[in-house]
Amino acid sequence: MVDWQAVERGALAGEPLPIAVAEALVGVSPPDLLRLVAIAHAARLRHHGPGTELEALISAKTGGCPEDCRFCSQSMHFETGVAAHPFLDPDEVVRRALEAEAQGARQFCIVAAVRGPNERLLRSAIAAVEAVRTRTSLEVHASLGILAPDDARRLAAAGVRRYNHNLETARSFFPRVVTTHTWEERYRTCIYAREAGMEVCSGGIFGMGEGWPERLEFAEQLRTLDPAEIPINFLDPRPGTPLGGRPLLEPLEAVHIIALFRLLFPRASIRVSGGRERVLRDLQALALLAGANGIVLGNYLTTRGRSAADDLQMLRDLGLTDPDA
Ligand code: SF4
Repeated sequence: MVDWQAVERGALAGEPLPIAVAEALVGVSPPDLLRLVAIAHAARLRHHGPGTELEALISAKTGGCPEDCRFCSQSMHFETGVAAHPFLDPDEVVRRALEAEAQGARQFCIVAAVRGPNERLLRSAIAAVEAVRTRTSLEVHASLGILAPDDARRLAAAGVRRYNHNLETARSFFPRVVTTHTWEERYRTCIYAREAGMEVCSGGIFGMGEGWPERLEFAEQLRTLDPAEIPINFLDPRPGTPLGGRPLLEPLEAVHIIALFRLLFPRASIRVSGGRERVLRDLQALALLAGANGIVLGNYLTTRGRSAADDLQMLRDLGLTDPDA
């Protein structure tokens, strides 16, 4: 039995939803799901305001990754047909950053498909970060895989505001998804990023065969990192990957995940990321009304997103644009 008044009171006060209450909210029926969505939206407006964080991604180095993440089309272990390329030169990264800025993005994440950066890649990434910071007003984020403490310090010194490294899923489920590195290595990278002075951006992928118990276990573990941002990705099964035959999550289940994560992490930015269009279909607007306060504008790393113009129109229609922007 859910005490809805207590859930609403806690959400508006900015208190993280207790895991035991989240367990009870997992089983709510569709009419009550809309009640949960309304509370999550009210909590988002109270603690984050109506503005929506708009981030663009650039796949600065694509494909050929030695890791074996079973959802990923950039792993060299799977035949996926992704066109690989080495790290782009800084001028190309800046060109894409300027384009993203003109489309309305305020944050720009430089991503490389690697286990972690070698010296050459780290230097290229730092040059790209410095160039984007000099020539645009974008806040620069980076996602370059597993870091050593010194890598993290160098990225922070170059001006990377936020470092993305997803835990991806619950610790207990992780070995069913990845075997070439451990959940603990991912966790440690997030700690190094924080210790170096960057904000931590860490979330995961839903729809890989995990159930609600693993999702809540994941939330409990993620809480110990206290991320500034949590990307919520939904599996978009990529042909050729081991998870390529998995069914898509149902749109309402995806909305349910977003609403619960909003209440579990009242202060974090919840960004709906990969798989948004394909999994949510016509419920994308509902996901934005379920507590998400960030989206990826434009394309993802290896798949296309909606046009920036369509997304910005949807946000205006929902009243979820920054009134000062
Ligand atoms: S480490 Fe990143 S790029 Fe490499 S296979 Fe895993 S998810 Fe893909």
